[in-house]
Amino acid sequence: MTKINMVIIGLGGMGSYHARELIKDTDGVHAYGAFDINPEQLVKAPDMGLKIYDKLADVWQDEAVEAVLIATPNDSHKELSIQAMRAGKHVVCEKPVMMSSTELNEVLAVAEETEKVFMVHQNRRWDKDFLVIRELYRQQEIGSLFQIESRVHGANGIPGDWRHLKEHGGGMLLDWGVHLLDQLLFLVDSPIKSVVADLSFVLGDDVDDGFITHITFENGLKSIVEVGTTNFIKLPRWYVKGLEGTAVVDDWDLSGRVVKQTGFIDHHKLVPIQAGQGLTKTMAPPSEDATTTFPLPKGVAEFDTFYHNFYEVVRHQAVPIVKNSEVMTVLKLIEMIFKSAETGQTIHVR
Ligand code: NAD
Repeated sequence: MTKINMVIIGLGGMGSYHARELIKDTDGVHAYGAFDINPEQLVKAPDMGLKIYDKLADVWQDEAVEAVLIATPNDSHKELSIQAMRAGKHVVCEKPVMMSSTELNEVLAVAEETEKVFMVHQNRRWDKDFLVIRELYRQQEIGSLFQIESRVHGANGIPGDWRHLKEHGGGMLLDWGVHLLDQLLFLVDSPIKSVVADLSFVLGDDVDDGFITHITFENGLKSIVEVGTTNFIKLPRWYVKGLEGTAVVDDWDLSGRVVKQTGFIDHHKLVPIQAGQGLTKTMAPPSEDATTTFPLPKGVAEFDTFYHNFYEVVRHQAVPIVKNSEVMTVLKLIEMIFKSAETGQTIHVR
């Protein structure tokens, strides 16, 4: 196996995480060096076994370097990706791949022209909580899913770095939103039918501090995707409804449960109960007595790790797990969400 020497461009939070945790020689990719416009960020590079590059041009000219990881703020992904591929390097790019679908078209044209691999790090396709939902969707343990609610809630507001600045591609839709939408589209094997969305600006930034969107698919499945940064009480990470049951995944620690209907409900013999100042048949027993609670199923990624797949794609031994056509669909969905939020209209996809 001839390893791919990779240079990390942008040795901040995520660039360092790739170097320390994700890029593995055993996958065929070697964390070889680093460049950052802020030299202070490079002080830690030698401890991480990384060669320091003082200039970007030195990375481009170094023939020992076969690929780069772009882990810089979002607005710089396009220019750096194009430069890298023109210099003959393969590219792994952090999410969001670009600021718009127009930018991505330009970059993909360069990838085609230079015959370089361009792959986006949509790492949350490997998240265990997502894989549980994928298992429920595919195995239909609670019947066919007809509603999927995917949320990430926190109360820290927008981090005070480039993430709260519009010119750098800040805001929560381009941050966590990209992950949640990528997971949803990777899961659901049906085209999008319509999208309606609202962005939150309660913190007074130029960029959204959260959003909520309703996405309907051609097969009838409905979904709610929500990110909030002012939620002092969190709603569950996932809440999904199937025709025979409901499942909840509370958080990344995989606490949660599946509740299935296991008993008979005679809809003609429901006895009303008092609820608040009124009576209800709809919400009366035996709806709960006729159910059984089960643990969450295990979700397993039957596909390769990101970096081993990248290695095999570069060596023409596999197709990418994260396809550029898929990240393009996510970007177009993000554009629909922005448009719906701006116009207050539902966007119907033809
Ligand atoms: P960060 O601010 O911690 O690090 C960014 C680094 O890039 C900084 O060290 C900065 O000095 C450097 N930099 C800025 N412009 C540069 C340029 N033109 N050339 C070289 N270096 C430059 O940010 P971060 O949290 O590491 O985010 C970086 C990217 O990674 C973003 O696109 C973000 O969306 C993505 N990210 C992805 C995940 C994930 O789970 N996939 C998680 C966090 C961040």
